[in-house]
Amino acid sequence: MKRAINFSAGPAVLPEEVLRQVQEEMLDWRGSGMSVMEMSHRGKEYIAIHEQCVADLRELMAIPANYKVLLLQGGATSQFAMIPRNLLRGKTSVDHVYTGEWSKKAIKEGKIFSKVNVVASSEDKNFTYVPPQSSWKLDENAAYVHICTNETIGGVEFHWTPDTGKVPLVADMSSHFVSRPVDVSKYALIYAGAQKNLGPSGLTVIIVRDDLIGTTIPNTATMFDYKQHAEADSMINTPPCFAIYVSGLVLQWIKRNGGLPAMEKRNIEKANVLYNFLDAQSFYRSPVNKADRSRMNVPFTLPDEKLDEAFLKGAKEHNMVQLKGHRSVGGMRASIYNAMPITGVKTLVEYMGEFARKYG
Ligand SMILES: *Cc1c(COP(=O)(O)O)cnc(C)c1O
Repeated sequence: MKRAINFSAGPAVLPEEVLRQVQEEMLDWRGSGMSVMEMSHRGKEYIAIHEQCVADLRELMAIPANYKVLLLQGGATSQFAMIPRNLLRGKTSVDHVYTGEWSKKAIKEGKIFSKVNVVASSEDKNFTYVPPQSSWKLDENAAYVHICTNETIGGVEFHWTPDTGKVPLVADMSSHFVSRPVDVSKYALIYAGAQKNLGPSGLTVIIVRDDLIGTTIPNTATMFDYKQHAEADSMINTPPCFAIYVSGLVLQWIKRNGGLPAMEKRNIEKANVLYNFLDAQSFYRSPVNKADRSRMNVPFTLPDEKLDEAFLKGAKEHNMVQLKGHRSVGGMRASIYNAMPITGVKTLVEYMGEFARKYG
């Protein structure tokens, strides 16, 4: 068996240790005689898995008691619509910060439900930076302020937490969830699709302050109501049991490896290997403003896009896959989530050096 060095933006690399554990428990989960895939979601075995996953996430992120943790389906994309349905609470407008492709999608969906004010944007420089808060034109009557704290495609990350006063702050953290400690109390709602840094696709995590839920816009179906999900412990219907199980094992892996502070330290080290290399040469270019560079998703371009194909082919020969950048940015993108070992990043940098010497 040969495992690839996988730089996919998502679904993405998972810790090998976790995959082996899944394999070991596949046919008989801890003496139950069943695979987790075969269990009733109302049975005691699955309930234990579900509760452990929530408890571990609460512990790792130090989630305050007045926040609900919901394990839902539909991806982060469904949240673009579910958030306004639940958090408008009679208000007529929302504030959005526009920092790239994912904020754009949230803005588009937000417009279905209310007036959207784009209070800051980095469109002028092709989404290569986070607009400083001093430039934001916040509306104190907005229902909430929406940000995307890590733009997966552009590779732009918030390394600071905005202060929106009394207006609730909502954050799409999909692609840097559990990559670093977060002060949850500064946010009204945090959401993330699991398949970037937590587990398999199919699970979406929502962390929401409990006083904000319970007032949906009229005619909201049960499945789009946070309050009803919270009251049913995310079991109104069948949850994504297997994705929750694997994500739970990833959380335990994070706990065994020092928790979020240790993840952050490792992620800084890994990102530094790649960015220090990029800064010390002139063949490749990193388009993102230094202070706002993502530790998770690192886009870079070659001097001529005609070289892209040769770069990707050579990478494949070195066992490295999924480096092609998003079509909106071009070039390459290396996603280096929690489960990417530092040796993977070093192998990439070595290859990049070799390639530049050959074609530079
Ligand atoms: C991938 C991604 C999404 C979309 O997630 P789905 O689970 O596929 O709906 C939204 N926001 C960000 C920041 C992402 O990286």
